[in-house]
Amino acid sequence: MARYEGLDFYAIDKQLTDEERMVRDLVRNWVEDRVIPIIEQHCREGRFPMHLVPEIGEMGLLGMNLEGYGCAGMSNVAYGLACQELERGDSGIRSFVSVQGSLCMHPIHAFGSEEQRRRYLPEMATGKLIGCFGLTEPDYGSNPGGMVTKAVDDGDSYVLNGAKMWITNGSIADLAIVWAKLIPPGGTLADGRIHGFIVEKGDPGFSAPEMHGKHSLKASVTSELVFEDCRIPKDRILPGVSGLKGPFSCLNNARYGIAWGALGAAQACYWSAREYALSRTQFGKPIASFQLVQNKLAWMLREITKGQLLALQLGRMKDAGTMFPEQISLAKMNNVDIALQIARIARDIHGANGILDEYPVMRHMANLESVYTYEGTHDIHNLILGRWITGIPAFE
Ligand SMILES: Cc1cc2nc3c(=O)[nH]c(=O)nc-3n(C[C@H](O)[C@H](O)[C@H](O)COP(=O)(O)OP(=O)(O)OC[C@H]3O[C@@H](n4cnc5c(N)ncnc54)[C@H](O)[C@@H]3O)c2cc1C
Repeated sequence: MARYEGLDFYAIDKQLTDEERMVRDLVRNWVEDRVIPIIEQHCREGRFPMHLVPEIGEMGLLGMNLEGYGCAGMSNVAYGLACQELERGDSGIRSFVSVQGSLCMHPIHAFGSEEQRRRYLPEMATGKLIGCFGLTEPDYGSNPGGMVTKAVDDGDSYVLNGAKMWITNGSIADLAIVWAKLIPPGGTLADGRIHGFIVEKGDPGFSAPEMHGKHSLKASVTSELVFEDCRIPKDRILPGVSGLKGPFSCLNNARYGIAWGALGAAQACYWSAREYALSRTQFGKPIASFQLVQNKLAWMLREITKGQLLALQLGRMKDAGTMFPEQISLAKMNNVDIALQIARIARDIHGANGILDEYPVMRHMANLESVYTYEGTHDIHNLILGRWITGIPAFE
């Protein structure tokens, strides 16, 4: 079988630096050799391929756009390209890398103390330490500001109470970045201000039971985080940020990676649909020769190409320091939206075969349902854009 070459209808490749192409090709080949052959089995068994973590670390993909502390210090475009290739394998693998780098290493890098950076980042970059990010709660998803998880100052420690839900990597994590309201002495929840805390596996009163029964992201670990009088030392607060700015800064980085990643899943579905349409014969001809099928393939090509241009320009603006959050919202919502539609159309082109795990399309489709919802639902990004256009927040 020919090696996968991606889709590059608008010669975007020529816009990349040698280093960016090198990273893209490294990850592309690794996904082809190490992920594609095993991922359906892992998905079927609902198992994250843990054995791949050291290899991901060795490639320098964990916190790869961060500087120092053992991180690769690559461009944001290189990071995006890596996300694209990883998600061509599976959204679960890209989610692992996004959570580790953008949601855990980034806040320690940006808001942590020098001691915290030295303590956690080098081992997180190799994958020796795994992180998770606890923001969502059972009753507060799109509205994280309403969170009820709280931290109370108790002399030389903080005591956390509350629960987080839907936490990627939760049960396999060595540390969790937990966002909780720090209650001032004598105050109530309403007086609390959001802070980030580093909770380590084994801290008293902390548990991370895995959530089961998912039809989506089956090759990824999703967990609850439970804090019952969980006591952590005072030096585990992230000193450099308070308020929603902290978690939102992490989400912006992760959403950026998703805007690229979704294109990888879309391309996997496009290629599978193209190959299937050329080989499947009905009414005496390959189904690829029917105009309706060509229309579907042409639509996929059009949307993937537009999505690639969006992602690249977003990455260049991020590298130049001119990107603003609404631009990330547009790219995240657009690229996940078109990827999900492409996965559904690809499933249709595969006919009944499309529901089998012999083809990657139904797995990508199910995965993308989560990607559509996490890191700000599609409609929350619509509201972010609506606020930018009108100046009127319509969230509540
Ligand atoms: C597989 C998976 C992994 C995840 N990983 C993590 C993780 O690692 N860490 C973490 O903290 N969270 C994680 N999440 C949680 C995710 O971020 C939330 O699911 C997401 O923010 C949406 O919250 P919700 O599910 O509570 O939906 P809700 O907020 O209840 O939304 C339900 C529906 O209502 C709509 N809605 C909500 N508010 C409005 C409004 N104001 N106007 C119009 N429509 C509205 C939404 O768009 C959506 O359609 C994960 C989720 C999944 C599925």
